[in-house]
Amino acid sequence: MNQRLKKLQAWMKENGIEVSFITSSENVFYLSGFFSNPHERLLALAVFQEEEPFLVCPGMEVHDVKSSGWNQEIIGYSDIENPWELVHTSIKKRLNGVQKVAIEKEHMNVERFEQLTALFTGAAFVSAEEKLRKLRMIKDAKELKIIEEACALADYAIEVGCSEIKEGRTELEVLNAVEYALKQKGVTEMSFSTMVLTGANAASPHGNPGGTKIQKGDLVLFDLGVVVDRYCSDITRTVAYGDINDKQKEIYDTVLKAQLAAVEASRPGVTAAEVDITARRIIGDAGYGEYFPHRLGHGLGISVHEYPSMTETNQLVIEEGMVYTIEPGIYVPGVAGVRIEDDIYITADGAKVLTKFPKELQIIR
Ligand code: MN
Ligand code: MN
Repeated sequence: MNQRLKKLQAWMKENGIEVSFITSSENVFYLSGFFSNPHERLLALAVFQEEEPFLVCPGMEVHDVKSSGWNQEIIGYSDIENPWELVHTSIKKRLNGVQKVAIEKEHMNVERFEQLTALFTGAAFVSAEEKLRKLRMIKDAKELKIIEEACALADYAIEVGCSEIKEGRTELEVLNAVEYALKQKGVTEMSFSTMVLTGANAASPHGNPGGTKIQKGDLVLFDLGVVVDRYCSDITRTVAYGDINDKQKEIYDTVLKAQLAAVEASRPGVTAAEVDITARRIIGDAGYGEYFPHRLGHGLGISVHEYPSMTETNQLVIEEGMVYTIEPGIYVPGVAGVRIEDDIYITADGAKVLTKFPKELQIIR
């Protein structure tokens, strides 16, 4: 039994939970080492306090489960079998009269919940999410190494993006060149849809790249991430194409100052709120407070957004082993959008910055 399952079992014992029925691909992967996107088919990991856990998956994936290293029971089902009957039988073999079941309430759908309430008549259903988020929040050495690789590829992507900026190129053309270069390096998946936004388009924090042409005097914003062995990186850099005006420069300098201060403030013992406020105060003092409309950052790992959430109200205490982003931004409609985002790892001494592409304003000629 792996350490993660043991930690979940200890939590189940403390809370009188007899069964955890885990159905999200991310948490099944975290606990079992097996990743699959089963689409509409059922993928689930059933964990018990003492009895052997089992993994339910489409029959065609049983071989992949075995080669992923999962050496406990696997229940494969064909497209003409009802997986719930198999689940029922396997649970009955282990337990009778279940009182408390943990599920992922944010992930579970109603159809599946009805199956489970029929299976565990009268049982209480509690959330497993909070516990799993806390477990996933602290990364081990192996996870850190993978995230570092994903960050190195993200740095490379920004480097390629900068070299592809040319007069008259569209956002999509540059984006395409970046993803092509990554595929040449063996990357199969991005953390999310890559963003290349130029000029006024960059003033929307979640803009859509399109046919807009890059012009001299534009600030060009890249936001992208690379998936390595199921772990995500997430980087943003904003660069200048040719000379930019004083206002754009002032906005850039303010974001950079806020970003550096928040990295510096990140260490064990401070709260997420204190880190957010460090950056927010600098942006506010410069007169741009209303143009920084989102949280400072988010945890990063198997999911591109996970715990901790770096908001100005989150009293969660930062601990060694956390990985999160620091990404302040200023978006002045019609003028400029600037965001600078790093992924950091918390050590006993403070932040280790994992994304290393330079943050001083890069001017592309
Ligand atoms: Mn990002
Ligand atoms: Mn991010």
